[in-house]
Amino acid sequence: MRVVLLGKPGSGKGTQARRISESQKIAAVSTGDLIRHAIATGAPLGKEFKSYVDRGLLVPDSLVLALFAERLADPDCAQGFLLDGFPRTIAQAEALEEMLKKRGQPLTCALNIEVPDSVLVERAMGRRYCPTEGMSYHVKFAPPKREGVCDACGTALKQRFDDKEDVVTARVAEYRDKTEPLLAYYKSRQQLQQVEGLGTPAAVGGRIDAALAAAGV
Ligand code: AMP
Repeated sequence: MRVVLLGKPGSGKGTQARRISESQKIAAVSTGDLIRHAIATGAPLGKEFKSYVDRGLLVPDSLVLALFAERLADPDCAQGFLLDGFPRTIAQAEALEEMLKKRGQPLTCALNIEVPDSVLVERAMGRRYCPTEGMSYHVKFAPPKREGVCDACGTALKQRFDDKEDVVTARVAEYRDKTEPLLAYYKSRQQLQQVEGLGTPAAVGGRIDAALAAAGV
């Protein structure tokens, strides 16, 4: 399967991407993770990436496309992949379409996780992740068994540096301006699946699995 996961910041894309990647045994590619990794490791473009991420702005298309194309060429993406946070602009979607055409691998579908704006700030601000395992938690909606530490490995949980109220608000505005038009883009190609994103991760996961089954996965 080759699936694009769409949704506002805080809609649960990352949590669902990890779950589907494990259950379907396919690569989950998160451009946000690739960008954060470049920042954390001091890669040549790390500083430039950080200047955008810190303000809640999208990194320019040319930079993201180079990063994404390199990751898509990895062997684990050969048979299928799930894209979390890419594409985020029409130009990125067109570039993806071109890349997949060259590979002779059409997209299975684009799946949008729909949540109302009113829940986004609370969802993002309460989000925590394990820097070792990558597992994600939420202080209110999906708390770890012991406060502040990962269930799997006991590592202290962290908060993303862009999960602050003003940055989340800017990310939502960027979504509205540049990413939301992708819904019409994929709808016009009869590739869009819509899923209601409110409820527990398990409940949303059940709806996503049903939508993927409807798309032939
Ligand atoms: P995410 O982890 O997907 O929420 O992404 C975190 C941040 O990384 C975003 O707010 C953007 O600054 C940047 N980013 C991630 N993916 C993209 C993309 N496809 N295009 C542009 N910027 C991106």
